[in-house]
Amino acid sequence: MDTYQHILLAADFSEHGRLVAQKAASLAKLHQARLSIIHIVDNLTIIDSTYGPVIPFETDLNEQLIQASQQRLKSFSETLSIPEERQFLEMGNAKLEIVATAEENQVDLIIVGSHGRHGFSALLGSTASGILNHAQCDVLAVRLKGD
Ligand code: AMP
Repeated sequence: MDTYQHILLAADFSEHGRLVAQKAASLAKLHQARLSIIHIVDNLTIIDSTYGPVIPFETDLNEQLIQASQQRLKSFSETLSIPEERQFLEMGNAKLEIVATAEENQVDLIIVGSHGRHGFSALLGSTASGILNHAQCDVLAVRLKGD
């Protein structure tokens, strides 16, 4: 069996994210692979009934969101012993940013949860299925069950 060299954990810090992280950590250990982590911050937009999606004037809010996410990513990464240079924080569309970061960093396995913060309505969440459809490398969706 081929071994993986570089594994990317997509972390949304949801309730079940810890389980996905544990799976990523044990696979990295098994394959003696590098483990990286990525979190995507959604752009804050306000839907205005006349103008549609608009960027809020209060850009401080975005700044605060980024800082809070950075802090969260840092402490989550520490529990997995992931060094700073392998912690990625991006803004925008989660599936596109995750796939792009994987390609830029020669990742050969992306690990996601089957579901995230948006719930369990479908077999596979939209971020997970988007990554599965677009990634050039292998993708492992860790099955998470609803309560
Ligand atoms: P979803 O498809 O949105 O239900 O989420 C499925 C999985 O995609 C989650 O368990 C995470 O592994 C990953 N994911 C979703 N949103 C993000 C995000 N903003 N940043 C990083 N990973 C994410």
